[in-house]
Amino acid sequence: HQLDKKIPATLIPGDGIGPEVVEATVRVLDALGQPFEWDVQQAGVAGVEAEGDPLPAKTLASIRERRLALKGPLATPIGGGFRSSNVRLREEFELFANVRPASTLIPGRFEDIDLVLFRENLGGFYVSHEYYIPIGDDPKAAAVSTGVNTKEGSKRIARYAFEYAVKNGRKKITVVHKANILKALTGIFLDAVREVAKEYEGRVELDDMIVDACAMQLVMNPWRFDVLLCTNLFGDILSDQIAGLVGGLGMAPGANIGKDAAIFEAVHGTAPDIAGKGLANPISLLLAAGMMLDHVGLQDSATKLRAAIYATLNEDNIRTGDLKGTATTREFTDAIIRRLEK
Ligand code: NAD
Repeated sequence: HQLDKKIPATLIPGDGIGPEVVEATVRVLDALGQPFEWDVQQAGVAGVEAEGDPLPAKTLASIRERRLALKGPLATPIGGGFRSSNVRLREEFELFANVRPASTLIPGRFEDIDLVLFRENLGGFYVSHEYYIPIGDDPKAAAVSTGVNTKEGSKRIARYAFEYAVKNGRKKITVVHKANILKALTGIFLDAVREVAKEYEGRVELDDMIVDACAMQLVMNPWRFDVLLCTNLFGDILSDQIAGLVGGLGMAPGANIGKDAAIFEAVHGTAPDIAGKGLANPISLLLAAGMMLDHVGLQDSATKLRAAIYATLNEDNIRTGDLKGTATTREFTDAIIRRLEK
């Protein structure tokens, strides 16, 4: 892609702090020459308000046509209410790989963290065939949830992770499981990954770890890991944990990669406690935009963007409140733009 021809993409502002960090990201991309031609569409509670649907048909059609989207977080009601629009988007576009890198940008509890986590995005317990069992006169006396992992689905995410490792000079993949207890559900994943690993022998090393041991090792010695490869639920949890190693959810980008589209987002949610106050850290979504630039072959712009974030944090010492700074979202964004214009 050349910068003189803009790339069509869908832009979903989302809920809570979503519109604030999306606006910040669009302004920074403007300063980079704005490689994307945005089609703004709604989803989440904003989708319900605009179109009466948390995932309006117009939004789906836009992504289907452009195959590329940048998305703010979407609110999902806990318990009752509508089903997660994020999960529906993953299913709709077969977004099988969730890629979540975490690397140290500021001094913190842990130095020199440089990890990438791959989360299987379509299976496991997120298939959510859930129901209650009545006992006596209690209609909800017990609850059941079913997880599904397929051999092919497990191999697909494994192959994606191994190819990524080869292309990005990563040496070791650790597959995370609970095959001692969930012998079938996570055992099938472990076996499929081991099978795929044979194709990469001598190029990428594979080891495996039980999820509880992995959670502890990530705190005791995170440097022993290079790439983590996880089933859906474990990947969801451990990716927040690795975000915690590098300064929290304000620093964690994610890419949902599929057969039919790629959707880039922050790992964090709508942050209702700070929404509308102009306090959100936009770095997660900015880094997600960086992954989006890499994805469309604009590595130079992505590198410039990451360098501007790094310099703003460490040379200008401008940070938002979650990083113990005093800058508002707008002040931080202005500082990044000044860096880009230098
Ligand atoms: P959350 O990530 O929204 O917030 C957790 C904590 O982190 C809060 O204290 C929040 O203020 C802080 N935080 C998050 N992002 C921040 C940022 N950019 N800058 C500064 N502080 C930040 O998690 P939650 O409260 O569990 O979820 C709130 C809502 O978001 C729920 O409806 C949930 O379903 C939804 N959610 C959406 C996505 C998504 O769309 N990808 C992901 C996770 C949660």
